[in-house]
Parts: sequence; C-alpha cells; structure tokens
Amino acid sequence: MRLLLVEDDRDLQRLLKKALGDAGYVVDTASDGEEGHFLGDTEPYDAVILDLGLPKLDGVRVLEKWRKAGRSMPVLILTARDRWSDKVAGFDAGADDYLAKPFYTEELLARVRALLRRAAGFATSEIEIGKLHIDTRTSRVTIDGNPVRLTSLEYRLLAYLAHHRGRVVSRTELVEHLYDQDFDRDSNTIEVFIGRLRKKLDAGLIQTVRGLGYCLEVPSADGKDRAEA
Ligand code: CA
Repeated sequence: MRLLLVEDDRDLQRLLKKALGDAGYVVDTASDGEEGHFLGDTEPYDAVILDLGLPKLDGVRVLEKWRKAGRSMPVLILTARDRWSDKVAGFDAGADDYLAKPFYTEELLARVRALLRRAAGFATSEIEIGKLHIDTRTSRVTIDGNPVRLTSLEYRLLAYLAHHRGRVVSRTELVEHLYDQDFDRDSNTIEVFIGRLRKKLDAGLIQTVRGLGYCLEVPSADGKDRAEA
C-alpha cells in the first residue's frame, strides 16, 4: 500500500514516515499544499494523511480540489485545529477521518489500517480469503493455520492483492503501489516476487491473467476456486 503524507513540520514528517514505513507502507511525502496537491492529483495512492495548516495551499483547499477532480482515495486529516467547526469543514471537504494533534502514532496506524480496509470492504483488520488468513495489525500470514514467512515486499504484494481480491491487478499498478516515487520501476521484478509468493502460499491462490496481470481468487461458496468453476 502506498501512502501520501502531506505535513510541513519536518520532524513530525520524518517520524511518521519512519513509523508508517516500519508498518509496511510505502510513503511519499510533501511539505506544502501545492506539492501535496500535485502528488495526490497525479500519483495513485491507497490513502492520504493530510495536515491542514500548510504553506502555499491550505489542506482543506487541497482536499476540495482533489474531490472536485474526482480523486476518491481515503483521506485522513491530521491537524492541531481541533474545534468542532474545523472538523466539520474537513469532513464536508471530503475527509474520511480526522485526528487532532498531539496524537499517539499507534492511533494513527490503527486509523490508517481502518481506512484501507474500509476502502477494500473488510469489516475487521483480519482478512480471510479461503485458506489464507492475514492479520493486518501484525502482518502475520497463515495458510490453513500454518504460519507463512514473508519478506516485507512479499507481504506488501500479498496485502495489496488481498485488498483488491477478485479483481485483476496489472503489473504496472503493483509497481505503482509497492514502490515510492523515487524507485526505479521495473515491472519485471514483480513477476519474480509473485513466483516466490506462489511457492510460499497455496499455488492456485494467485492467478495470472495473461496480458493483464494477477488476481487473488476468492473461493466461491461451494468451496471451489472460481478459476476451476
Ligand atoms: Ca502544519
């Protein structure tokens, strides 16, 4: 999952980028409203953490502009303004969640997880897809109850596919959501990681859709994979 963090307080930005990175997210950062707006307008993000008091362009304006342009990614507002009227303005501009400074990093991480899983239609932080179980709080993965050891990139890849289960995800999309903007994007490496994931998981779980990408299959009600049906 790739996040955008728009925060002009450099110390806080560094601290949050580290915490989010440790939690397995890829994080791009912007330090003013114009840069933040540009990135959110042109890059695909799974969620955005947006400060309100920003140089050049206020956070509420940034959010309004995104929403007017049809950008629908989940946005969590992070701000020192905690009057009820500021919150109302933020939600009315299109925010999905709101966290007042100061806050605990753990709470921010929990809210980001909640935003991502709501966007994906999961009710809790534990994802069950057939034999596959993913605990997004701890990044623990099991198949049929047996723990699977994944590298952080393998986990990110699997988590992304799981959040978009049942839909074909292209290699380009995976590269865009698994690496930050500075990464030298070679979509061939994705194939290598998919191969490794398949070896560690149930082989039939990740389907290749020729010419289009990959799909994490959702088993149908009768227990058969859709690919076999
Ligand atoms: Ca600020």
